[in-house]
Amino acid sequence: MRPSPVTERGVRPAKWYEKLEGKRVRCLLCPWKCVLEPGRVGLCGVRANKDGELFTLVYGLASSIAIDPIEKKPLYHFYPGAPILSISTVGCNFRCPWCQNWTITRASPEKAWLEYLDPEGVVKLMKRYDVPFVAYTYNEPLIWYEYVEDVAKLVKEAGGFNVLVTNGYVNSEPLEELARYIDAANVDVKAFNPLTYLKVIGGKLEPVLQNVKALRERGVHVELTYLVVPGVNDSAEEFGKLVRWVLDELGPEVPLHITRFFPAYKFVDRPPTPVETLLRFWELARREGLHYVYVGNVPGQSGEYTYCPRCGKAVIKRFGFDIVEWNLTNDNRCKFCGAPVHVVGGRWRWTSRL
Ligand SMILES: [Zn+2]
Repeated sequence: MRPSPVTERGVRPAKWYEKLEGKRVRCLLCPWKCVLEPGRVGLCGVRANKDGELFTLVYGLASSIAIDPIEKKPLYHFYPGAPILSISTVGCNFRCPWCQNWTITRASPEKAWLEYLDPEGVVKLMKRYDVPFVAYTYNEPLIWYEYVEDVAKLVKEAGGFNVLVTNGYVNSEPLEELARYIDAANVDVKAFNPLTYLKVIGGKLEPVLQNVKALRERGVHVELTYLVVPGVNDSAEEFGKLVRWVLDELGPEVPLHITRFFPAYKFVDRPPTPVETLLRFWELARREGLHYVYVGNVPGQSGEYTYCPRCGKAVIKRFGFDIVEWNLTNDNRCKFCGAPVHVVGGRWRWTSRL
């Protein structure tokens, strides 16, 4: 079958691979390290061997372009209240059976409706809407590497900020290079059991954890998301191990979002996560010593608030993605007791910066 003109537009030489005998290539972008015969596409669905060289099939091909609140990523401690231009393509290097975005993560570049947006076009959109934040999100952005890197460089040159919303499944070298242009990331830790990663998600836990640490070491602001899926990762024991890992390896200031699962994709046969489970995990994480713990996807409960680590009062009150009360000083100190609260950049105000 002839590729569609749209797909041809998205084909560009890929980075991070090595040539093998017989025109085979080994992709070195993510820990899968797919070995591809000519004509074959990697597990991500968007990187292909064409006549002995590796190409990305989705350079500049966007499946969604939207402006979201930054809280939706979720990021609660990075310019709270900011709008963020959010872009995605298709494909993923994981196989989560509960994927909420499976219509794009499981779509192939040939069949999906994709709009071409060159890197300069992203900066133009930033300027037109006066939104200096760009998120690479909805599908896994690391498999869109070449484009994300090119866009991210231009965004930085224009004075903007780059945010990755990612599963963290990438090799260290590509991550290290890309991290130079990344300001913040939300990384999904999808389970704290290596077997769940291997059997259910398709991948390994260890590289994800290493990459979380690597991002922090490179100065990237990191928040973590743990989606609680009934029957998969909802034991308090497993969640407790994650909390202790965060405390030991990252420290108490890393925000942890405990989010509610809703039936989707192959997991339509089970109910949403009981709110009670989410609140129990929230208490557990707070009791163990994490400062900033949130219950996500449940609007209208106190697990949406940021509490002062010293006096315990609510310093940022939210309802869903909206900030409804702000009790921090201009230098991000608690208005009640003066303790510093970890917020990068402070509350976003609409002023023309670009
Ligand atoms: Zn306080």
